[in-house]
Amino acid sequence: MADKDCIFCKIARHKIPSKIVYEDEDIIAFRDIDPKAPVHIILIPKTHIPSIKELIETDEKIIGKIHRISQKIAEDESIAQSGFRIVANTGPDAGQAVAHLHFHLIGGRKLSWPPG
Ligand code: AMP
Ligand code: ZN
Repeated sequence: MADKDCIFCKIARHKIPSKIVYEDEDIIAFRDIDPKAPVHIILIPKTHIPSIKELIETDEKIIGKIHRISQKIAEDESIAQSGFRIVANTGPDAGQAVAHLHFHLIGGRKLSWPPG
């Protein structure tokens, strides 16, 4: 189900443009509009799930698939060997700005730890 006001639902339905790097019937991955590293890609399920907080058992398969596709994209973007980070900001303290579950795939530079 799509949320009519959700920007990532609109991207998933090609109603607003994005730089898509991968797409199938379940998932779309596109370049972040404000990249925080040389490689910064957002992966989302096409169905509207607000965040990790709302996941249900039947979502387990797509979450696994998103991670497997992240591996493929990391290889395509030549960051599989240098390393990368996958982040799902969840809720206010984590700074989640878009209420559609998304995973940031970030790499291409040395990433500091712990995050701010
Ligand atoms: P978060 O803060 O975890 O909710 O991350 C939301 C991310 O979505 C941010 O890194 C934004 O730069 C990115 N973003 C917002 N709107 C768009 C858009 N239209 N196309 C691509 N990335 C976007
Ligand atoms: Zn949505």
